[in-house]
Amino acid sequence: MTTTAAPRRSAPRSAGPPLRWIRRFTEGSADQRFLLGGKGANLAEMTRMGLPVPPGFTITTEACLAYLKTGGFPDGLLDELRVVVAELEEEMELAFGAVGAPLLFSVRSGAAFSMPGMMDTVLNLGLSRDSLKGLAARTGDPWFAADAYRRLLELYAHIVLDVDEDVLHRAMRGVLDLYGAKDASALDLIGLQDLVGVLEVTIADQTGASFPADPWIQLEQAIAAVFRSWNGRRARDYRRVEGISDDLGTAVNVQVMVFGNAGIDSGTGVAFTRDPATGERQAVGDFLLNAQGEDVVAGVRNTEPLHQLATHFPDCAAQLHEVMERLEQHYLDMCDVEFTIQHGRLFMLQTRVGKRTALASLRMAVEMADEGLIDRATAVRRFRPDELERLLHPRFDPAADVQVLTKGLPASPGAASGRVVFDADRAEALANAGEDVLLVRTNTSPADFHGMVGAKGILTSRGGLVSHAAVVARGMGKPAVCGAEDLVIDWHGRYATINGVHIEPGDLLSIDGTTGEVVLGRVPVLPPAAPPELDRLLGWADELRRMAVFANADTAADAATARAAGAAGVGLCRTEHQFLGDRLHLVQAVILADDEAARRPALAALEEVQERDFVELLAAMDGLPVTVRLLDPPLHEFLPNVEELLVADARGELRGTERRLLEAALDWREVDPMLGIRGVRLGLLLPGLYATQVRALLRAAAARRRAGGDPRVRIMIPLVIGTGELSAAIALVREAAAAVTAEMGEEIPFEVGAMLETPRAALLAGELAPLVDFFSFGTNDLTQMTLGLSRDDVEARLMPYYLEHGLLAADPFRTLDASGVGELVRLAAEQTKQAAPSVELGVCGEHGGDPDSIAHFHRYGLDEVSCSPGRVLVARLAAAHAAFTEADADRDR
Ligand code: ADP
Ligand code: MG
Ligand code: MG
Repeated sequence: MTTTAAPRRSAPRSAGPPLRWIRRFTEGSADQRFLLGGKGANLAEMTRMGLPVPPGFTITTEACLAYLKTGGFPDGLLDELRVVVAELEEEMELAFGAVGAPLLFSVRSGAAFSMPGMMDTVLNLGLSRDSLKGLAARTGDPWFAADAYRRLLELYAHIVLDVDEDVLHRAMRGVLDLYGAKDASALDLIGLQDLVGVLEVTIADQTGASFPADPWIQLEQAIAAVFRSWNGRRARDYRRVEGISDDLGTAVNVQVMVFGNAGIDSGTGVAFTRDPATGERQAVGDFLLNAQGEDVVAGVRNTEPLHQLATHFPDCAAQLHEVMERLEQHYLDMCDVEFTIQHGRLFMLQTRVGKRTALASLRMAVEMADEGLIDRATAVRRFRPDELERLLHPRFDPAADVQVLTKGLPASPGAASGRVVFDADRAEALANAGEDVLLVRTNTSPADFHGMVGAKGILTSRGGLVSHAAVVARGMGKPAVCGAEDLVIDWHGRYATINGVHIEPGDLLSIDGTTGEVVLGRVPVLPPAAPPELDRLLGWADELRRMAVFANADTAADAATARAAGAAGVGLCRTEHQFLGDRLHLVQAVILADDEAARRPALAALEEVQERDFVELLAAMDGLPVTVRLLDPPLHEFLPNVEELLVADARGELRGTERRLLEAALDWREVDPMLGIRGVRLGLLLPGLYATQVRALLRAAAARRRAGGDPRVRIMIPLVIGTGELSAAIALVREAAAAVTAEMGEEIPFEVGAMLETPRAALLAGELAPLVDFFSFGTNDLTQMTLGLSRDDVEARLMPYYLEHGLLAADPFRTLDASGVGELVRLAAEQTKQAAPSVELGVCGEHGGDPDSIAHFHRYGLDEVSCSPGRVLVARLAAAHAAFTEADADRDR
């Protein structure tokens, strides 16, 4: 006999009349993804390109929305369906529902964004007990025909009729066991016919109606089921998490069937135009001989690698590679494809821009720019800051032979290994004893906070990406995998199981919070990889961004790291560390001194050690600006703990100096140190402190100049609230500077600036601006004070609750609170530009390293962001992306 009918490859006839609810594949294009869904739009695009796509049509998302509104098909849809099916019948020389030569369809859902929970594909739709005989006669292969019908019944029962999968499988298992068959492919014709009978009976049993033999009923029911799947629970949840609108709807693709299971001259597979794991410019994929698409996914048989396709089908393999080459040239990106070969003829069933790892994304972007496929700006656009972040976290060594036990949600990036501990106290104790521990719990609560602090990583079986465990882990920058549902912890917390593997406290387990993988044993962890392409891509990004990227660096070593990562200077050097360690007693001597005279020798000693620190820092950033913040913390941070001293005192153990320290500590004790005497307030109360710092800094600069260096000094005054205060502080700075000039006989140039980190300073920025050379927004304090939230106090309990219950959209200490804090920044920037346009505007809070926040800062017109050295690379890329976002917004306006 002949074969299953094959669609013509020649260009299809010109399209029929325009329709309201339906577009033929010959009519659509890739830019219509909102109307046709991603799958439909790309099927149309491939059709337009003249690629061998089985003919078909797409029912639009508008039809879906109309259906969901009224619960019925919109007027005209069914008539249009008859029109396009008739066209396909003519083209294929087959008839829908015909007994002798049945036309069969696949019915496939496809929304604008691919998402889980949408209806699965029904294959072989249109077949019935009667037409099955026609198919058998036409193909000369009754087994093939019966198997096609079996697939239809199985898919239709489960997908369209919603028959319970367990019931279905149990019924099928019965027949398979009877014949001693592993799966349906192992049955002979008689067995297959039995299986078909059982499926029909099960459907009738479970739904109270027999399987519809009428192909039109099949088609209508399948289309309606796709429409309804838009509002399925999983789809809705996914859309909420991903921020996808509920008003988009899904399209339905109806396509003529081709058969990869029509014999050994047939097959099916999936492929990528470049390697999605490594980015290497080489097509990769898998295929199966004599199989239909779902078999590849189901993993019933082992697939063969794509490069072996040529040994079975040399012509098809060559054609497929040509198609893939054309797709890349057309989409200007890596594409993935689904293909089927029917009796030695190639058909393309799907394409889209392919998903890829972060590493592959980077490599492809750079190589495609080198090849001239895309320009450099596009390459930078293609590599997102969140992908770079993923590359910058430690990860499992891909060469390690690991046993992945399960996969949960990738809740906080990075990899960690440790001994399993089920409770927080134990985690803390073991961690303090120097063990690497992994805190494993059903979920976490504020009561587990101390255990999370000690743990290397956190694994939970429940909870999503905003669960307590996820939020707190991200806040701590600690790896976490959450919602690993296969993890079952014994009620008493004595042991756990993961997919049958028994786990005791003390067992070694590893998690990768970037992928969600949970692995038995200790996996070797690779340090973050900086692939060679990164430097080049970031170099391109540098040319596209407007904002400069500075680093927060307190020491010469930090500054050197930051500089190597491409920082343009130090945006914040916190000087308090210069007062700690072996210098603490000098600071305490300053505090204990009764008057200036007594204070002077201690200050002089402090000045000397600070000068050395500054020389090193300025050397590390030679030629680039170094912004030094004068002392910021409250005094009590330099004094011993009051409670401990009181206890010692009660025991009569306090001696002379200690007693005086206790008195000082009690004297300086504050109810709310965050809002107490710190920053410029302390600087004005104890003027010797700031003067010492300024002198040390400028002397260091002078020393650098004498040594042939190029120091660029910026002095920054923290926590200001008004003009009088700022003027007084600046006067103090200039007085100290003048003393150095007199002493050195040379003037050391420097700039003076202020931190804007109180709401009042932000509101008065216009008045403060004429006094300074630069401003830096201290968004950590500004967030605390604007929201009235003390970060340390809300981290464990309140923030997770607020995020989980949607009371805050994001953690304002990670991502700038644009509507509150951001408004203050925007306003202050605007007023500064009016009052004193030359004043430079920067940010030195942690938000300076957060891509979303960076986008806001760009929009406010700031000149620079400053972030921790480890985030400089991400900030450089994010600043370029911020510029894109703005350009896009301008274009769309
Ligand atoms: P998904 O989005 O899950 O990949 P698809 O509709 O693309 O859903 O595919 C389900 C399977 O059915 C795929 O393997 C695909 O190749 C196959 N398939 C879809 N349409 C047809 C068709 N017209 N002929 C043959 N196989 C098809
Ligand atoms: Mg697919
Ligand atoms: Mg501050």
